[in-house]
Amino acid sequence: MIIIVLFGPPGSGKGTQAQILAQRFHLMHISTGDLFRYNMKNNTPLGLEAKSYIEKGKLVPDELTTEMLKDELQRNSDQKGFILDGYPRTTSQAEALDHLLQELYNSDVDKTLALHVEDEALVKRILKRSIDSGRSDDGDENIIRNRIKEYYEKTEIVSEYYKNQNKLVEVKGEGNIEEITQALSHELEEILQSKD
Ligand code: ADP
Repeated sequence: MIIIVLFGPPGSGKGTQAQILAQRFHLMHISTGDLFRYNMKNNTPLGLEAKSYIEKGKLVPDELTTEMLKDELQRNSDQKGFILDGYPRTTSQAEALDHLLQELYNSDVDKTLALHVEDEALVKRILKRSIDSGRSDDGDENIIRNRIKEYYEKTEIVSEYYKNQNKLVEVKGEGNIEEITQALSHELEEILQSKD
């Protein structure tokens, strides 16, 4: 099983890149944000609960998020591997992920690829994206800044967790999409080769 974590602040391009890489390398893209949006759209109990956090730009509590991720991982045990986008976002989620991967697949995270983008560029990108995405958390600058604040308060530290295990690779997240895909693909090729 191949497990790649795509890491970075909101608007850093994780979703865009994860989708391209998943296709290119035949891995499954799991986005916790997309899973929450699916649940919100369908008014499931999980969706209704998550909505109250997402609309304020806050993280959804760890337990709810981890339970949702576990279901998704379990349901797709036939896959060759996963690209995780938006999980883990707290150190406690990173620990939960390690346990889950051991329990379900006797596997570990292979690498965490971290995208770097300046804060002001993030805000601009998300506001621009809101025109098409229709996401209620994308169109309001206060909510966006709150998401970025949550990132610095709770998520950025997760990179240390992977750095300490020599699993963190930092990639420039500004530039054109193809350039960034190239840089990430290069890393993924190395990972796949090392697992052959
Ligand atoms: P972005 O990375 O652009 O903020 P996402 O689609 O990844 O967008 O996430 C949207 C929202 O979903 C987050 O702001 C957060 O409220 C919630 N969310 C997604 N993943 C997690 C997670 N792992 N833990 C807690 N909340 C999450």
